Amino acid sequence: MSVRKSAIVTGGTRGIGRAIVESLADGNLQNFSADVLFVYNSCETCAKEIEEQFKNTDVNVIGIQSDVTSFDKAQEVVNLALEKFGKLDILVNNAGITKDNLLLRMSEKDFDDVINVNLKSVFNYTKAAFKPMMKQRGGRIVNISSIVGIIGNAGQSNYAASKAGIIGFTKSTAKEFASRNITVNAVTPGFIETEMTAALNEKQREALLVNIPLKRIGQSQDVAKLVKFLCSSNADYITGQVISVDGGMVM
Ligand code: NDP
Repeated sequence: MSVRKSAIVTGGTRGIGRAIVESLADGNLQNFSADVLFVYNSCETCAKEIEEQFKNTDVNVIGIQSDVTSFDKAQEVVNLALEKFGKLDILVNNAGITKDNLLLRMSEKDFDDVINVNLKSVFNYTKAAFKPMMKQRGGRIVNISSIVGIIGNAGQSNYAASKAGIIGFTKSTAKEFASRNITVNAVTPGFIETEMTAALNEKQREALLVNIPLKRIGQSQDVAKLVKFLCSSNADYITGQVISVDGGMVM
């Protein structure tokens, strides 16, 4: 029988976040299944659809509307997970947005919004999750960064700063939490097929493929499989790492 864990995933309604929710709940992957509380901002119909998908299974998958930029709401979500599932084993900080522009044209609001959703949220949720994980004497935190946080990208200075910030935050908290048996790792996806990347036209896609040695665009499941591994007992001795899922784009 597979082990049952409890997880929070931010930004679970679509794309990579949804695939992470599905893989954590799936008991056939990495010898455990998880009850999952996922957080979203606007897409209530997406949330209902995912809840429906797991209605007749033995795991509890619950969506909750909550803006990840709010420090207080992060605490409420963690309290709710503890109330519903009795414990918190896993936190996946996945929610993210882009507001691309060259720095010359980037507004202060576009900079602040991206930093708040992508980076401040990681602080909010990590801080709220740390106490229960510490009391349980163990936990797993996975932060979704991006290869853009490593190599930068013209037109994405706000996004790149938020994703590089996640890497620094991951390594620092990994060092702080290690003695509590809480691991913290960052995953850096490359180009993954989701709504976030759907805006690219055919010419832009072809240009991207030239730089991907595995010659395909990644799928959300490619990222979700790594996240599930990092949350499993197979990754007990891995912390503070930044692992790319990018078809070899950055090496
Ligand atoms: P999507 O745009 O498909 O989904 C984003 C998710 O975040 C949605 O569930 C959305 O909820 C949620 N969200 C956005 N803002 C908030 C908020 N303020 N509060 C709560 N939830 C919020 O993104 P992807 O799946 O493409 O990306 C997921 C993560 O992976 C992001 O951190 C992204 O930066 C990163 N990434 C993606 C890459 C890619 O190629 N797609 C590459 C590298 C990294 P709702 O739908 O309700 O608004």
